[in-house]
Amino acid sequence: NKQVIFKDYFTGFPKESDMYLTTSTIKLKVPEGSNGVLLKNLYLSCDPVMRILMQRVVPKGFSNYTPGSPINGYGVAKVLDSGHPDFKAGDLVWGSARWEEYSLITATEGLRKITHSDVPLSYYTGLLGMPGMTAYAGFHEVCSPKKGEYVFVSAASGAVGQLVGQFAKLLGCYVVGSAGSKEKVDLLKNKFGFDDAFNYKEEHDLDAALKRYFPEGIDIYFENVGGETLDAVLLNMRVHGRIAVCGMISQYNLDQPEGIKNLMCLIYKRIHMTGFTVRDYYHLYPKFLDTVLPYIKEGKITYVEDIAEGLESGPAALVGLFSGRNIGKQVVVIARE
Ligand code: NDP
Repeated sequence: NKQVIFKDYFTGFPKESDMYLTTSTIKLKVPEGSNGVLLKNLYLSCDPVMRILMQRVVPKGFSNYTPGSPINGYGVAKVLDSGHPDFKAGDLVWGSARWEEYSLITATEGLRKITHSDVPLSYYTGLLGMPGMTAYAGFHEVCSPKKGEYVFVSAASGAVGQLVGQFAKLLGCYVVGSAGSKEKVDLLKNKFGFDDAFNYKEEHDLDAALKRYFPEGIDIYFENVGGETLDAVLLNMRVHGRIAVCGMISQYNLDQPEGIKNLMCLIYKRIHMTGFTVRDYYHLYPKFLDTVLPYIKEGKITYVEDIAEGLESGPAALVGLFSGRNIGKQVVVIARE
């Protein structure tokens, strides 16, 4: 059983060498009398939050990785054997997954059965999984969007951002995204239907760039990156604007988070700035599926994935999130069935 093991806590940017590959043995059978479930892991999800779990000290409610044990995150798996009444061999599931080929688990509360398998299974790490739910809840529940509003999305070509932009377009908003390369900017404009997009790495004055793209200001900012982008956005928000703080990836590798200079704008412009986590919104998952599955089938939503082949490629794929190597949702495929 090949596994990706977490080496030890660190500070700064993650490196491939913070993880290593090992092989152990596992019986491909649930022990007699146990209510365990034996999973064959198919697709693994690379998510920025995994960096936070590599810290010695983590925020309340998070549980960090154990040095010497496999890292874990979200994934898609097939049930090979089960002593649990709710699961049977052949079932497809998504939810929490260890970075290994096979897992024998007894805690099944993190697993959801896949009932719609007529879409790519890898979508359950992204579009139909945690990032999709994040985009849906973050945009529709936290941003209180209205038709015609001006929406800005950062890290816009990623797992979450590409969907936020598409949800905003479906509602009739004007949407601009920022991303870190020309290729990503082209995707935003030509594949995801953003009204406009720019490469933030080429803008030495983000405030001026935002004034160019939003001469009348921003109603909704979907925050994925933090730092100087947030500071520039604050200067460009409209009165009664909303900021949904989903993530701040530019801060995850810093020992000390950067200070934000323009927070007084929250007062002057009566802005609602709300942090959220997807964990609080899974009760909406059935509604989310009912909304999004038809969009996929009708071609109204498209999703770009960056597929890394094999568990061996996992550490590089995960680390790559922090240099923007991924184009779209970063997935690691261990097996396709
Ligand atoms: P992505 O697929 O967007 O991958 C991360 C991207 O972030 C990279 O591709 C890169 O794109 C960009 N990035 C990396 N470093 C920086 C930096 N220093 N400054 C600006 N951009 C940077 O990730 P996700 O869509 O999965 O996640 C997006 C955000 O949402 C993250 O902050 C994540 O933590 C958060 N999140 C929050 C959840 C919640 O419940 N609140 C749930 C899921 C995600 P580029 O080339 O454009 O720089």
